[in-house]
Amino acid sequence: MFLAGNEFCRRLLRWYLTNRRDLPWRIPLGRQILRDDAPDPYHVLVSEAMLQQTQVATVIPYFNRFIQRLPTLPALAAAKEEAVLRLWQGLGYYSRARNLRRCAIAVMNDHAGQLPDDPAELLKLPGIGRYTAGAIASIAFGKRAPILDGNVARVICRLDKIPADPRDKAISELLWARAAEIMPRRGSMGDFNSALMELGATVCTPRNPKCLVCPVQKHCEAFAAGMQESIPLRRKAKKTPLLKRWTFCIRRGDRWLIEQRPPKGRWAGMWQFVTRESNDVELLPVRVSRPRELAMIEHALTHRRYEFRAMQCGAIDSNGDGTWVTLKQLDRYPMSRPHVKLAEILRAVVP
Ligand code: SF4
Repeated sequence: MFLAGNEFCRRLLRWYLTNRRDLPWRIPLGRQILRDDAPDPYHVLVSEAMLQQTQVATVIPYFNRFIQRLPTLPALAAAKEEAVLRLWQGLGYYSRARNLRRCAIAVMNDHAGQLPDDPAELLKLPGIGRYTAGAIASIAFGKRAPILDGNVARVICRLDKIPADPRDKAISELLWARAAEIMPRRGSMGDFNSALMELGATVCTPRNPKCLVCPVQKHCEAFAAGMQESIPLRRKAKKTPLLKRWTFCIRRGDRWLIEQRPPKGRWAGMWQFVTRESNDVELLPVRVSRPRELAMIEHALTHRRYEFRAMQCGAIDSNGDGTWVTLKQLDRYPMSRPHVKLAEILRAVVP
């Protein structure tokens, strides 16, 4: 195990303060970082929720728009779930958005609107796991709380020359312990944790790590052994199941029939064109004219892939329940990415 002393921390922090990316949830690059200066806890909370499973470059415009529309935690707590989902539309993994709103409500109710600074208290809030609790406590409140995300796990595996898969339970526990151990005794805990993540994201990358410019190369046991490319161990990718769905874009005049998904499960509570597991038109909520093929939309998630075969048809009944909206009105409804794509196709092809 590498020795993480003052020299290691100094090198890492010096590198971070001059090389960090200017991100909207951090203190701006041009501003001199003062003692006890820290980013807005609400900004840290929102950015950490968005950054789970999503790349920084994708998150930036979503974060800016979210903060512009819901600038404070009370504003988020007071927002309707649909409005929050609408702001999240396209980012995926929508339970993050629902949990973020539930978290804001819990903070308003149980903590007088102030995010707690204690990781144990943060962990009790909806949607906040061990990593996010550590990130908020250290980055927003300067607490000596460790974090371990994919980037930090890879960096520590290499520094310590651990030739294992960081997702294995025992290895993950070991890495959490090391993430706590290597933190400095004093100084900015938020900068230290951010520096480790930044190093993993920009220098100690999964493939072709840039060891020659790495600020902590001198401390790295994997580099010393020439093993940086083979650490950490990569799990073989499993083939993900393919789920086939039929989507019916049903038109009546200038309106289209949409439906809301159940309150639990994937894309919970979001809206979509009528989607079924079979192409049996008898199962549709209205009688329709003969459907014709419109598009095939593929969508890959972490553990499964979807294929939506989209059909276009007209409603024969003039009455019938359901939500009928124009293509313009669709903008008000939160929809999953495949259905947003479908709406774009309809806008392009429908006169
Ligand atoms: Fe990663 Fe290479 Fe730096 Fe080691 S020397 S921490 S492998 S970039």
